Amino acid sequence: MTVTPEREKALLDSVPTGLLIDGEWRDASSGKTLDVHDPATGKVLVSIQDANSEDAMAALDAADRAQKSWALTAPRERAEILRRGFELIQERAEDFALLMTLEMGKPLAEARGEVAYGNEFLRWFSEETVRHYGRYFTSPEGKNKMLVQHKPVGPSLLITPWNFPLAMATRKVGPAIAAGCTMVLKPAKLTPLTSLLFAQVMQEAGLPKGVLNVVAGSSASAISGPLMKDRRLRKVSFTGSTPVGVRLMKDAAENVLRTSMELGGNAPFIVFEDADLDAAVEGAMAAKLRNMGEACTAANRFLVHESVADEFTKKFAAAMEKLKPVRGTEPDSTLGPIVDEGAREDIHALVTEAVGAGAEVVTGGDKVPGDGYFYQPTVLKVENDCPILGQEIFGPVAPVTTFATEEEAIDLANSTEYGLASYLYTRDYNRMFRVSEQIEFGLVGFNAGVISNASAPFGGVKQSGLGREGGAEGIEEYTTVQYIGIADPYAAKRD
Ligand code: NAP
Repeated sequence: MTVTPEREKALLDSVPTGLLIDGEWRDASSGKTLDVHDPATGKVLVSIQDANSEDAMAALDAADRAQKSWALTAPRERAEILRRGFELIQERAEDFALLMTLEMGKPLAEARGEVAYGNEFLRWFSEETVRHYGRYFTSPEGKNKMLVQHKPVGPSLLITPWNFPLAMATRKVGPAIAAGCTMVLKPAKLTPLTSLLFAQVMQEAGLPKGVLNVVAGSSASAISGPLMKDRRLRKVSFTGSTPVGVRLMKDAAENVLRTSMELGGNAPFIVFEDADLDAAVEGAMAAKLRNMGEACTAANRFLVHESVADEFTKKFAAAMEKLKPVRGTEPDSTLGPIVDEGAREDIHALVTEAVGAGAEVVTGGDKVPGDGYFYQPTVLKVENDCPILGQEIFGPVAPVTTFATEEEAIDLANSTEYGLASYLYTRDYNRMFRVSEQIEFGLVGFNAGVISNASAPFGGVKQSGLGREGGAEGIEEYTTVQYIGIADPYAAKRD
């Protein structure tokens, strides 16, 4: 069923448009507003308050004031707030899904998938909150008892990208709440509405004032700059592009801030000669087209054994041609628009450059004419030195290249400065272990095109970042370790 304009309006009217500071929805001190657009039409959806440095500092003041008492709350109390947040989002899943489709563009079916995935971080970390154990043991020479405990790292700045508006926020806010940290969340300016609705839901779930503050604004550095210089801030967790991450790490060094960096990717999708080709095509569609290719985990290079490359490419292109690039609110939409005109131009420039370098266009290769920023699902046959293989495409464009041996596939896969996701298709489990051992990526999908999961440690190596989100590791990013050495009164008996 098509979503009606009345339903869209009612939802947009219900979403908070202010800044959440110290438990109150406020106007920006600048008096300015920021327009949020629908990428499927280019039209303005709604205007929100546009935060500046003064607002950012007010948010940090609130986070700092709340930190002491929040750190002292019982783990069970924090766990139950997270659990209530999870239940409220489940109740409002359709609102969250539609809101993401409106501000980011992904088809509703995919947006529903993101609600399920993103909300799971709240449930997962509600469970982790009460099982975050320390250690108690006797020192090796028997003189002391050793107590190791985890404490919240303190007020944290959380900066999220536009591509997964809910999941990127819950993946940071969930573990920060679990660990007992207060925070300032700065969502991407293209998609702030989901974070604002999420923050409202967390208030309803009972999160005390000042624990979660949200400041969206047109100038990211006006918000992050002064906070990163303030010694009350103890941590920055960033998801976004590598150049911005590197800049934030330099700023973080000044104050010796803890950092978690989830940065860009250039995922290889390797299809060996013994792979189930139909399964590989299905996996390729998921790994390439999820979120219109606008994912850090998106398969960016298809490395296919030369003996099966033609058959794989033919089947892959046929599946791509079945996609329907229309507004995500339409029931038959299977491919949404690119997030904005600039991003679409960047994708088209990469395709044009590849064609100039000799790439063969198997299908697609151009912008979709008409409203919005749609791009044709595209398959290119390229040589191994084609420049597109070295760039994060962030769109529905799949360059396919070939290899002759397992060793060559491994070398090609590793020939990137990135190291986030990778995918292997083979029926051979020994090969899976052998190749996984040798490829330099934080995530490996084995005969699986989508592997993100709240219970798994997500993160990259090399220029793809530092730290892990989700899994048992996710909460560690928001804690510091304290060791207490206790003189053991029985030590003399051991001498
Ligand atoms: P981006 O331009 O780096 O922006 C990400 C966030 O950083 C946004 O909130 C942005 O604010 C903010 N930002 C930009 N410049 C900043 C600055 N100088 N100081 C402080 N904050 C700043 O990235 P994007 O285009 O939104 O997202 C796409 C990138 O994110 C891709 O490279 C993708 O691979 C990566 N990503 C990685 C993961 C992962 O888990 N590894 C997940 C998703 C995406 P504005 O919106 O106001 O510019």
